[in-house]
Amino acid sequence: MEQKTDGTKVVIGRCETIEEYRKKYYQKNKEKLNAYSKEWRIKNKEHIYAQLNQRVRCECGLSVKHRRLREHRKCSRHINRMKIIDQY
Ligand SMILES: [Zn+2]
Repeated sequence: MEQKTDGTKVVIGRCETIEEYRKKYYQKNKEKLNAYSKEWRIKNKEHIYAQLNQRVRCECGLSVKHRRLREHRKCSRHINRMKIIDQY
């Protein structure tokens, strides 16, 4: 296989540019690549979801679900507890 540079593009073989090569590679492996990224998304979704449902200890001392933490920090229960903690 002959490789030469024509300034901006690296030419592989006869007249294939890197982009064409990538396109062909993608076409050839489309199903495999799509299945892989789909699996990755599902796995990550589960992971993120599990993380959001995990209970965490807030600095006020209450245990809150991770996805509720932002809301919780604005609620009066948290604010009051933080006021008490601040007094010490
Ligand atoms: Zn809190």
